[in-house]
Amino acid sequence: MSGAALSIDLESYWHAELLRTRVDRAKMADRVEEATRPLLDLLARRDVRATFFTVGEVIESHPDLIRDIVAAGHELACHTYTHRPLWELDEAAFEEEIVRFNALVARVTPGVQPRGFRAPTFSLSPATAWALDVLARRGYAYDSSVFPMKTPLYGVPGAPLRPYRPASNLVEEDPAAPLLEWPMTVWRIGPVTVPVCGGFYLRVLPMPLILHGLKQAAKSGPMVIYLHPWELDPGTPRLPLSAQDRFITYHNVGDPMRRRLERLLDAFDFQPMGAMSRQWMMDGGDR
Ligand SMILES: [Zn+2]
Repeated sequence: MSGAALSIDLESYWHAELLRTRVDRAKMADRVEEATRPLLDLLARRDVRATFFTVGEVIESHPDLIRDIVAAGHELACHTYTHRPLWELDEAAFEEEIVRFNALVARVTPGVQPRGFRAPTFSLSPATAWALDVLARRGYAYDSSVFPMKTPLYGVPGAPLRPYRPASNLVEEDPAAPLLEWPMTVWRIGPVTVPVCGGFYLRVLPMPLILHGLKQAAKSGPMVIYLHPWELDPGTPRLPLSAQDRFITYHNVGDPMRRRLERLLDAFDFQPMGAMSRQWMMDGGDR
């Protein structure tokens, strides 16, 4: 099975890890509508359905947007309630977030049951793998939080590069594990691992390298691409940051990123991750 899942982490620009504790939310607009509506229009024009890993706070403040996303045929999935990374939570606090999130979705979009989860800032690691037990207890079928290489902030080096059922060390497979894991797509070439899966890397790496890397990665299985609506929004506020944080947060935000997304939509056929998970299991991909 090949194919590609398009995943959107639906949050405000102020949920990003470098800004999360620095923005006075009472004084700033969240720009969620401005950033997300044009993306929905683009996906409708291209007849592409995606998975929206959504922060509960965004569902709370934009219920009509969420209903429009579901009505357009996209998949609603969970990106926690408050976008705190797992390393700031314990098992009980995380379970409270998930219970609150599920109850909110039941109120705003009755009949929709979220089945997929992504941890903020890819904060799933062996130290926070209790999150997978909570998700299984609360009705989730798949997770997409493993970044299979080391980065300064996150990453699970040595993790499989294709969908798998993770043991609690996240590196080994456990056929009895309740959740299916969709790691972010990287391109491995000899000793070098290139993250070609989206977000900051999609904004910064040369586009021909990304397209070539994805085509190579696609040969061995399904792929996962991710991005944030605020990365496509020319109006994302530019806040005063250090030179390095400014580069990480704002490089190619706005029209350049939208053009890069359009080139990915030209090159690959995307589907929601939930549909791909069902297909993966039907094909016996995890046997
Ligand atoms: Zn996020």
